[in-house]
Amino acid sequence: MTVTKHPGKSAASGGKNKQADRQEEIILQARANRNEREKGYRHKALKMYPWVCGRCTREFTHENLRELTVHHRDHNHGNNPPDGSNWELLCIYCHDNEHERMTQFSAGHGATDTSEEVAPATHNPFADLQKLLGGGE
Ligand SMILES: [Zn+2]
Ligand SMILES: [Zn+2]
Repeated sequence: MTVTKHPGKSAASGGKNKQADRQEEIILQARANRNEREKGYRHKALKMYPWVCGRCTREFTHENLRELTVHHRDHNHGNNPPDGSNWELLCIYCHDNEHERMTQFSAGHGATDTSEEVAPATHNPFADLQKLLGGGE
């Protein structure tokens, strides 16, 4: 039996690392995984959706695919549901517009309570329900 060590590159396949006490490596690995995931969603979104800008309906090919970007509908880049429901393919121009609109909206108008979109997430409609359910019997 020969034990081969893979220098540097951690084997992405198994994850069966018996030296689990090597915290640093784990942290590095986790960071790498996260980077992979962030790259991964673009890949997935491009597989899932046709290469068309969701705003100006410009079509894309391999040649100009760089200009097609993945927009997060809720603007949370960490929210990447596997069904792609938070993704929207936008060309870089429409993507810019999309984000500018958001910042202009919040900075410019200064509308405080007219915008329902920025309602604070403090109110949880299920809290009362849980109380009812939990406190009942
Ligand atoms: Zn566009
Ligand atoms: Zn975006």
